[in-house]
Amino acid sequence: MVKVQIIDRGVTDRATLNAMRKVPRHLFVPENIIDEAYNDIPLPIGYGQTISQPFIVAYMTEVSRPTSKKRVLEIGTGSGYQAAIIAEIVDTVYTIEIIPELAKEASERFNKLGYHNIIAKYGDGYEGWPEHAPFDIIIVTAAVKNIPKPLTDQLAENGRLVVPVGEPSTIQELMLVTKKKGRIEKISLTFVRFVPFKRL
Ligand code: SAH
Repeated sequence: MVKVQIIDRGVTDRATLNAMRKVPRHLFVPENIIDEAYNDIPLPIGYGQTISQPFIVAYMTEVSRPTSKKRVLEIGTGSGYQAAIIAEIVDTVYTIEIIPELAKEASERFNKLGYHNIIAKYGDGYEGWPEHAPFDIIIVTAAVKNIPKPLTDQLAENGRLVVPVGEPSTIQELMLVTKKKGRIEKISLTFVRFVPFKRL
């Protein structure tokens, strides 16, 4: 999976590649589709949601530039796979999921797999997690129509926010938002297709 789907498509960051090699994706998908866990596709995880395609997870991780001391917030825990990848690199990952059943399943999975550095909660990620802000990295794994202001507010100086922006059920733009001297800059990275961002 890592060689053909990720390295051959241009991801080079060593920490990202090591994390992708280490985290067992088959333990993040429903048992009945375990055979497909290392295929180059998103997979259903129930409740109309998906675990992202491995390449996209690797790409978003690389672009966010994780290093051990960075504070990370993920919006859209889903299966917990993206959080686990980042948690292999950084000391602490905060992650929020809006579907209570998925939030519970992911927390149980983190415990079982020993990811004690992932702090997960159920809630609406639109508001971010002010108690733990500012964040050096914020990764949003559901498509927003507009970038939530609380998230840019909670981005640290020189922080990086990676977020798919666009209408649901169409192709969206993956945006990189950075904060330099308090000013927000946005660049478009590529096109993606994510499930829609919900509100409580
Ligand atoms: N990162 C996940 C991808 C899951 S799909 C993984 O690696 O498996 C996106 C997830 O975002 C879904 O589980 C969906 O329920 C969740 N989501 C959508 N809107 C949200 C919101 N406002 N706050 C938190 N989670 C949200």
